Amino acid sequence: MMKVAVLGASGKLGSVISDAVDAADDLDLVARIGSRDSLETLVETGAEAVVDVTTPAAVMENLRFCIERGIHAIVGTTGFDEERLATLRGWLDEHPRVGVVIAPNFSIGALLMMQLAAKAAPFFESVEIVELHHPTKADAPSGTAQRTAALIADARREAGVGPVPDATTTALEGARGAEIDGIHVHALRIRGLVAHQEVVLGGVGETLTIRHDSLDRASFAPGALAGLRAVPAHPGLTIGLEHLLGL
Ligand code: NAP
Repeated sequence: MMKVAVLGASGKLGSVISDAVDAADDLDLVARIGSRDSLETLVETGAEAVVDVTTPAAVMENLRFCIERGIHAIVGTTGFDEERLATLRGWLDEHPRVGVVIAPNFSIGALLMMQLAAKAAPFFESVEIVELHHPTKADAPSGTAQRTAALIADARREAGVGPVPDATTTALEGARGAEIDGIHVHALRIRGLVAHQEVVLGGVGETLTIRHDSLDRASFAPGALAGLRAVPAHPGLTIGLEHLLGL
């Protein structure tokens, strides 16, 4: 049984993941850590791995503590830029048996949607992304849509596919969405929705639509648990849960 602690355990994501770890037969939840708890609890309880779902302000200090003590980490917290990743690589170089996984997306369905879209992209002339979210979301387009566009653009480039066909010469501003690496991305904000995305691909006489729907935060737990089970076999820094899941 791997001993696991959750950092940010009383948060929206942390509470779901703590309960899932607690319910798993092969994982032992030894600590639920909040902002007022001491990280020493990790040592006292013998935690072998943590899931960090805290805040961009807290996560680096948490990871430094864990890496220095040989504790693996699955990190759902956002806000990692190149500078932060380089800092993590430096810490991990000094503790080469520790694994840290930066997982911007815990949803296995969303990860598959991105991988399938990239796989399909070279086979179709046209591709556009429509992301749909609740109207309280502050950023547009979503991080998932931006990442999907980048993966699609890479796959098309690698296969030598030219630009998507588009005869538009006049348009109201925004009518064709945002353009990320040559891929159009449209953002809808609709009351009642949670988090959804469609990738619409088109070739002569056919279209293919790949759609993912997040209906509940519970969808983030299986990916986090799969990451925990796999991380001891993946020392060093891994970016993206897909690399641990064999996607
Ligand atoms: P949230 O509800 O605000 O929860 C954050 C929690 O972190 C709070 O409960 C807070 O505890 C705790 N915290 C703050 N500083 C801490 C510290 N130093 N040590 C331990 N705990 C600390 O936020 P959320 O919606 O759960 O999201 C958490 C993070 O996950 C965000 O970065 C978010 O963008 C990201 N996220 C990732 C995914 C994914 O799939 N990877 C999905 C959704 C969200 P207190 O209440 O005690 O202050």
